[in-house]
Amino acid sequence: MRIADVLRNKGAGVLTTSPDTVVRDLVSGLVKRNVGAMVVVGPDSVVGIVSERDVVRMLHEHGVEALECRVADVMTTDVVTCTSEDTVDGLSALMTTHRVRHVPVVDDGRLAGIVSIGDVVKTRMEELQAEREQLAAYITQG
Ligand code: AMP
Repeated sequence: MRIADVLRNKGAGVLTTSPDTVVRDLVSGLVKRNVGAMVVVGPDSVVGIVSERDVVRMLHEHGVEALECRVADVMTTDVVTCTSEDTVDGLSALMTTHRVRHVPVVDDGRLAGIVSIGDVVKTRMEELQAEREQLAAYITQG
């Protein structure tokens, strides 16, 4: 299955934030929207990604004062991305290699969606269920 198929099911919406956002507001956004990461966008493109893990690390290192920092201080700037044409299996390997749970989908420089490890697991489970039903039908009809 391709990433384009995943986006067709889950939608192409991506929650974004800016490098200037105060971490306290980022945390509020993560909680309200029930997501684990946001893509950080600049004037014309993706400039980073920030996840709950970055906030936890910052809190560990700086205490509650970390909440007054800016997203630019905590985000990862070397963003691992994929395209709509990539496969879910390929993305799964990419997530494992880079130890990340969120991968923005970028097509021709345009942010086209985001896929989380939860989306990958859901897709794989649906594939396995479909395979199981096909095999059961094959056996009972055969
Ligand atoms: P996550 O597992 O997605 O919560 O992120 C764990 C760490 O990897 C955090 O430091 C994130 O900023 C970083 N991270 C998450 N997604 C990506 C990505 N697609 N590319 C690069 N770094 C990422």
